[in-house]
Amino acid sequence: TRKIVLSNRFNGLPKLEDFAIVEEELPNVLQDGEILCQSEWISVDPYMRMRASTLNLGDAMIGMQVARVLKSRCSEYPEGSQVVANFGWVERTVFKPEAHHGVDTIYKMPDMKGLPDSFALGTVGRPGNTAYFGCLRVCKPKENDTIVVSAAAGAVGSLVGQIAKIQGCKILGFAGSDDKVKWLQDKLKFDHAFNYKTANLSEVFTQYAPNGIDAYFDNVGGEFTFHVMKHMKPYGKIALCGAISTYNTDSSQPALVPFDYGSMIYKNITMEGLHVLRWKDEWYTGINQLRDWILEGKIVVEETVTQGFENTPTAFINMLIGKNVGKAVVKV
Ligand code: NDP
Repeated sequence: TRKIVLSNRFNGLPKLEDFAIVEEELPNVLQDGEILCQSEWISVDPYMRMRASTLNLGDAMIGMQVARVLKSRCSEYPEGSQVVANFGWVERTVFKPEAHHGVDTIYKMPDMKGLPDSFALGTVGRPGNTAYFGCLRVCKPKENDTIVVSAAAGAVGSLVGQIAKIQGCKILGFAGSDDKVKWLQDKLKFDHAFNYKTANLSEVFTQYAPNGIDAYFDNVGGEFTFHVMKHMKPYGKIALCGAISTYNTDSSQPALVPFDYGSMIYKNITMEGLHVLRWKDEWYTGINQLRDWILEGKIVVEETVTQGFENTPTAFINMLIGKNVGKAVVKV
């Protein structure tokens, strides 16, 4: 089988030379309890940029995939069934599920009710649950609240906005190109959308959130978040989901970012970190609801598909620089 390994430490934005494809022999015979899987879809996600620093050079890149069970000696995962699993950037995997079972390692393909399999890596998967629980449990949106979301045209952000809209909120989304802004307004029906690269943030918030922001779903961190802090409503909530604007820094130190202590303290703002696995025991509540909202036409889903296993690094780099709309996935 082939796997894609880390061949250099990233220095800033990852480069194609930082990855290598290597061949690996898999055992011919399965042991009791093992399955042999063929990857069909591979997910590329921002967290891989950070997590790669915990890998050794030569290790396969980490990540979730949708895979087909080709051979099985494990009754729970029969031949021909599909799994969602944390196998990394590899084509074929021999795995023993028994010891490692759960939504962070391997689980059976959810009932997609006819939706594309790849959605199990996006809206009907991790990014979906991140948006679902992060929005509903941390932002706690109420009708007519003003909600701001960054990286709004991405996998998580595009859902946060739509979920908050279902709750009757006013949504301001920020993304990195005029085409994305148009897509957010025309297709996703965000109340307002802006290109954060060209907008005057202070003017935008003064005009479009004149009474302040009730909740901010933060995907980007850094300077953008600093500006949002200044425009929060008293007792507002900031949900810390990601900080992609800081991921491509090189130093071994955490990124230093501006922080508006004045607003945070005097306005009694709550800032709460969230990691999706906090809700691993409620996994199917989130993804089944999202699936049903798609089927009911309440949520629009977009994907950016890259063809070919060997192009996974390209897909990853393109996602980091914002070439994706919706979830970035690779068709193996
Ligand atoms: P996206 O689909 O949103 O892809 C990443 C996007 O980030 C790009 O499309 C790009 O869009 C934007 N971006 C890149 N660089 C910058 C920058 N410097 N400033 C602002 N935006 C930038 O990825 P996901 O939806 O998978 O992830 C979004 C965030 O959520 C990430 O921070 C990720 O780490 C986090 N996350 C957290 C989880 C958790 O459990 N806490 C789980 C899943 C994701 P643009 O063109 O708009 O710049």
